[in-house]
This record gives sequence, C-alpha cells and structure tokens, in this order.
Amino acid sequence: MVNNMQEDIAQKICDCNIPESLQRDKMYEAIASYISALSPEECVSDKEYERRLAVCDTCQGRMGPTCRYCGCFVLARAKKLSQSCPKPGEDKWSI
Ligand code: SF4
Repeated sequence: MVNNMQEDIAQKICDCNIPESLQRDKMYEAIASYISALSPEECVSDKEYERRLAVCDTCQGRMGPTCRYCGCFVLARAKKLSQSCPKPGEDKWSI
C-alpha cells in the first residue's frame, strides 16, 4: 500500500528549484525518519497502518502526499496511534 501511494504521488511537492525526484526522495526520507523516531507504543500495528492508508487512498481529502484537512503527510499521520482522521464530522479511519 505504501508503495502504491508513493507511485500515485506524481505532483510536485513545492515550487522551489529542487528537482521533483529529489523533493520526493527527501520527503520520504523525512517521513521515514519521523516514523523511526516513534516508540512502538506510539505506533499503530502494520495492519492498522495499511488499513488507514487504504482509506486515505480512496478519500477525496487526500491531496498527493498530504491531507487537505490538516496538511499532514498521511504516511506520517496514519502511523501514530494518537492521531485520528481529521475530516470534519467524519473520522474516516474509525469506520
Ligand atoms: S480526510 Fe482522513 S481519510 Fe481522508 S486523506 Fe485525510 S486523513 Fe486520510
């Protein structure tokens, strides 16, 4: 699922002069670093992570790598146990 999301993210991340492929590499590097710094107690299981990302994959709230409602990278937000889907009035991960 994570790989599907990576392949699906075709848009440029920002308008700076850094090449798109390098922007993506740096973004995934930063997300991986963020996730690896979390303790096991802070993380959802791999199965729950995949489930959450599958929900994001079909959600119109996802804008490339981010969620339009909070601006978070969904790959990072979905990994944290304490986080919920921020869609107003509808936590789509709780369904
Ligand atoms: S609204 Fe929820 S399900 Fe949709 S992209 Fe954002 S975090 Fe994912």
